[in-house]
Amino acid sequence: MKKALICGGGGFIGSHLVKKLKKEGFWVRAVDLKYPEFDETAADDFVIGDLRDANVCREVIDQPFDELYQLAADMGGAGFIFSGENDADIMHNSALINLNVVEPAFKQGVKKLFYSSSACMYPEHNQMDTNNPKTSEDSAYPANPDSEYGWEKLFSERLFLAFQRNHGMNVKIARFHNIFGPQGTWQGGREKAPAAFCRKVAETEDGSHIEMWGDGEQTRSFLYIDECLTGVRRLMDSETFHGPVNIGSEEMVSINRLAEIVMEVSGKKLSINHIPGPLGVRGRNSDNDLIRTSLNWAPKQPLIEGISSTYKWISEQSENTK
Ligand code: NAD
Repeated sequence: MKKALICGGGGFIGSHLVKKLKKEGFWVRAVDLKYPEFDETAADDFVIGDLRDANVCREVIDQPFDELYQLAADMGGAGFIFSGENDADIMHNSALINLNVVEPAFKQGVKKLFYSSSACMYPEHNQMDTNNPKTSEDSAYPANPDSEYGWEKLFSERLFLAFQRNHGMNVKIARFHNIFGPQGTWQGGREKAPAAFCRKVAETEDGSHIEMWGDGEQTRSFLYIDECLTGVRRLMDSETFHGPVNIGSEEMVSINRLAEIVMEVSGKKLSINHIPGPLGVRGRNSDNDLIRTSLNWAPKQPLIEGISSTYKWISEQSENTK
C-alpha cells in the first residue's frame, strides 16, 4: 500500500486531497495545526502539530513516504494577503514550514514531494491590463510579485528546486490559481472572493445590495477543487514532468461577473456597492498551454457549475449558524 503525508491536511485543499488519496487506496498521514473545520478527517493518522517547529517535522516525516504533499501555509484571500498587516507572519511562518519540511523529506528519501505554489508569484507588471494578463510559466522572471505571499512562494519554489538540482529529489510544483469549492473558508477574514460572494448573496435579502472591494472590473479565473486535485494527481503521476505548472481555469471573468454568476445561481437580484478595499493585480488568468502539452490535460468545467455547488454549501452553513 502506498503511503502519503499531507502537510496542511486540515485545510481546504488538504482535507479534500486526503479524501481523494484514501479513495485511491493510499495510507494517509495528515498534519496540521487544526482538524478539518467542516468534516471528519479521512486520514488514517492525523497529527496536530506546528510545522514551524523542526522537531515536529522530523517526527511526522519519519519514513520514506511514497508521496509528500506540502500544502501548509499561512494563507487567506485578498483581505488577508493584501492588507499589509500580515506580511511578517506570511513570510516567516510559510518560509519556516518549507525550510523545516524539505530537510527531513530529503534525509528520509521521500520518493515524490509536491509543493503548492501560487499564481501570486507572477510579476505585477504583466498583470496591469484586465484583458491581457500574462501568466505563462516562463514569465515568472524577472520577478516582481505584488505581495509578500507571492515572494515567499517564489523563494520556496526555488528552495525545493535547489534540492531537486543538488540532491536529486523528485519535486513537483504547481502554481494554483484561485481554488474554490465546498468546505473552504467562507467567513472570518481569510475567505476568498467566490466564498465571500456566496456568503454575502446568501445572507442578503432579494432586492437589497452587497458590497464589493474596488470597481469590480479586475479579472480573475477560479478553479473548482475537484479539477485542481485531478491536476495535482496527474502531475504527481507523470514520470518526466515536474513543473512549475499552472493549475487553474482559463475562464477569465471580472469580479462583477463573478458576483452576477452567484446571483444567477441564487435566483436573487441584488445591486453592488463598490467600496475601497484590498485588491491585488488588475488582471489574472491561468495560461494552460504548458499543462496541456505536458500532462495532456487541462481543466474544463464551467465556472457556474462549481459556483452552484459552492453556493448551496455556503448557504446551508450560513443557515446553520443563524
Ligand atoms: P488553507 O488555509 O485552508 O490550508 C492551509 C493549512 O495549513 C491550514 O489548515 C493551516 O492550519 C495549515 N497550517 C498553517 N500554518 C501551519 C503550521 N505552522 N503548522 C501546521 N499547519 C499549518 O489553504 P488552502 O486553500 O487549502 O491552500 C493550500 C495551499 O495551496 C497553500 O500553500 C496555499 O498557499 C496554496 N494555494 C491555494 C490557493 C487557493 O486558491 N486556495 C491558491 C494558490 C495557492
